[in-house]
Amino acid sequence: MPRPIHAHIHTDALAHNLRRARQCAPDAKVWAVVKANAYGHGIERAYVGLHGADGFALLDLDEARRIRALGWRGPVLLLEGCFEARDLELCSRLGLWHTVHCDDQIDMLAAHKTHAPHHVFLKLNSGMNRLGFTPGTYRSAWQRLSGLTQVDDITLMTHLADADGPRGIHDPLALFEATTHDLPGDRSLANSAATLRFAPGAPAVRGDWVRPGIMVYGSSPDYPAAGIGAWGLQPTMTLAARLIATQQLQAGDRVGYGGIFTAPQAMRIGVVACGYADGYPRVLRADAPVLVDGVRTRLVGRVSMDMITVDLTPVPQAKAGSLATLWGVGPNGSVLPIDEVAAAAGTVGYELMCALAQRVPTVAV
Ligand SMILES: *Cc1c(COP(=O)(O)O)cnc(C)c1O
Repeated sequence: MPRPIHAHIHTDALAHNLRRARQCAPDAKVWAVVKANAYGHGIERAYVGLHGADGFALLDLDEARRIRALGWRGPVLLLEGCFEARDLELCSRLGLWHTVHCDDQIDMLAAHKTHAPHHVFLKLNSGMNRLGFTPGTYRSAWQRLSGLTQVDDITLMTHLADADGPRGIHDPLALFEATTHDLPGDRSLANSAATLRFAPGAPAVRGDWVRPGIMVYGSSPDYPAAGIGAWGLQPTMTLAARLIATQQLQAGDRVGYGGIFTAPQAMRIGVVACGYADGYPRVLRADAPVLVDGVRTRLVGRVSMDMITVDLTPVPQAKAGSLATLWGVGPNGSVLPIDEVAAAAGTVGYELMCALAQRVPTVAV
């Protein structure tokens, strides 16, 4: 028998969450962001739920090839654009749209020989200070690009640094509008946080294309201010494993490496076939939430490579073979949002889902 651990990708939930993005921006087209192997879900599996998107946005040329290999003929956008000149040949061959964020990328385009001119997304640095032209150089970049025979369409784009936080979008939005107001072309600004929090009330945030990622994967961009329930999102990834043993502890017994948990009284614990080599964060400590047979309980002791130990006090009937849900959808309608586990690990849902290990058997359901 294979080790009793699995991940499920919920394709109906992916489709549901994509519809939520559309509801927030009904007059815009929607990029499903599928970078990082669809946030750890697997591009091929995610595609089953997301093929109703208007386009797929990603970073990696190999992932772009995989989307085309699935038969997707619509738009594909490289969010960081080309890394070297020969990437443009693949863009020409596969019909990829690509971001232009620096002069080197314009130089490469100017030297590129192509029959079909390219659709590019010209990126404004609106305060994130990672990629993009500053407001002072953006318009000359636009002029240069629009003079190239290699380019026939320029979408105006920026990425918002704090759409999920207290600073919000006022300043970058004002900067984007001041820089681009009289330039022609489509606009694209909103990630998940901007789509959920600001797009419904602000046409300027919706623009022509929104770019939701994390919300599509059933994680809230502004947890704990709002959880997936409040945003009407559904979990898209479940990580679950079976109990492979139980132990009866007496008061004072210690659990696991380093004995970091001591039983305060007699109690039963379960040993779950999931560890940090499966992508369950080792930094998690006692009290991180876990479901056993759909009942909420907690981690005790240190996370090891292949096992964790959980408190069975709230689930006295649990035994070897019982199901532990580490995040996602449990039995009997129970749910453990990935955001709660991520928060206990001091991180965000993005990191947990992207780190799901290769060795975990994963199926689309
Ligand atoms: C990753 C990414 C997104 C999606 O961000 P989420 O927070 O996951 O919605 C949108 N735009 C760009 C440029 C990105 O790199």
